[in-house]
Amino acid sequence: MTSTVVSPEEFAAGMERHYVAGADDARKVTVGLQPESRFADIYAEFAHLYTHEQLEALGEARAAATDPVERDRLNRLWFEAADAVAAGDVVQAAQDLMNERLAWRADFDGEPQSLNALLALISSEPDFERRAAIYELVCQADEEFAERDVELNARSQELRTLVFGLDGEIAIANARMGIDVQRFSDQINAVSERTAAHYAEQADRLFPELLGRDEQHPSRAHAGYLRSLHQWDHVFTRERMAEVCERTLDELGFPLDRIPTILPDLEDRPDKDPRACVIPVRVPEEVHLIVRPTGGLTDYGAFLHEAGHALHFGLTSDQLPFEHRYVAPDNALTEIYSYVVERITHEPLWHQRHFGLSREDAELVVAQNSFIDASLFRRYGAKLAYELEFWADPRDPRNPQRYADRLSAATRMTYPTSQFASDMDAGLYAADYLRAWRTSEQVIAWLRGEHGEEWFCNGKAADFLRELFVQGSVPSNEDVSRQIGSSADDFDDLIAHLSA
Ligand SMILES: [Zn+2]
Repeated sequence: MTSTVVSPEEFAAGMERHYVAGADDARKVTVGLQPESRFADIYAEFAHLYTHEQLEALGEARAAATDPVERDRLNRLWFEAADAVAAGDVVQAAQDLMNERLAWRADFDGEPQSLNALLALISSEPDFERRAAIYELVCQADEEFAERDVELNARSQELRTLVFGLDGEIAIANARMGIDVQRFSDQINAVSERTAAHYAEQADRLFPELLGRDEQHPSRAHAGYLRSLHQWDHVFTRERMAEVCERTLDELGFPLDRIPTILPDLEDRPDKDPRACVIPVRVPEEVHLIVRPTGGLTDYGAFLHEAGHALHFGLTSDQLPFEHRYVAPDNALTEIYSYVVERITHEPLWHQRHFGLSREDAELVVAQNSFIDASLFRRYGAKLAYELEFWADPRDPRNPQRYADRLSAATRMTYPTSQFASDMDAGLYAADYLRAWRTSEQVIAWLRGEHGEEWFCNGKAADFLRELFVQGSVPSNEDVSRQIGSSADDFDDLIAHLSA
């Protein structure tokens, strides 16, 4: 195959076509409409773009750029191109592994079940022992795939080290995110420590209460079930979910029926991934908001979280270039928006308005929901610390135990070793979530100060949010923090939320 080096503009146009095709494929697999992923086959159609010569040419164009906006665009394009060049030798292995995971089946209740089906079942299964049995099967799958997960990660890191000219995933993340990830992880650990006693007190009381049995350190098997707060299912019914969430967005100032670029998919298909997500196939024209309802308050939270992303992508200016509209150096910006919208479910007033709960009951649900949020924050803090250890040496045989120890200690749940290689998101995404945890609390405190307790239902937050959404991926997470007079080193609002 002969390759020719193209201009940065032509490269960006080609890459956008690749991303649109890839996102369309990912959507069909995620929502359970297509049994196998084809991302390596799609990559092959665009592989002529991803050569070392092309990457070098983009690097030269970046070095020659004098205008800061132009330079930023070319820098983003270079990072995306480096990702793609480094993926060339592992993309087929990654697709094969993913498709084997999708094809994996285990018998439960006499029926062969996919991993996605088991993960959807476990969150709504009311029986304690049956949840433990389902989790056993999920862990078996993770054990079967662990060695190949590790090899793929290790090999990928070796290739990326060469292509980026940086020392491994942590150095690449530092350069891409523009922060010192290790320092940030240390700051998060300090927040976890400062709020540990309060969390322990809540855990001692709430784990037994929510599970209906005397479990001080429940297995992770019960995490999804706990998170759903099922004792309130009669209030947060599946039937009312779409209607209430749409009304909530309307009151925030964003009527979905007037934003035709956002396409909700709330169907319950057997092989649909139960982890809610947004897949922007075209930005801003085609943004899929994907939720698989499993019952309970968690569905409302998931819908609103994803709606925050969908509003961001769906309201991004179509005048922006690919690099500021479709790609971002990380996900820490868009996660601010999802957290802010999801946090509406932490407002007692929201529960009173939409569900007719008394103030007392509303505060009870919110307290339980805040405990779940704190357990997730602690989980992600521990995950980031663990992932930094993992990337220092993916093949280190101590990694499974480190994973189980760190996650169990932080959450006061019992984590097995078997998910040490599967419970990871690409690109140190845990850091993006944690940056958003910090900044979204700053934003909510600021919105409350500016627009009062009713900030989420008086339409007054919409102008501020819309102004941010229009800018696509241009600002960084930390820019938003600075814009409201806060700073990236200010964790006070987060600590206040975690101490509530
Ligand atoms: Zn998100």
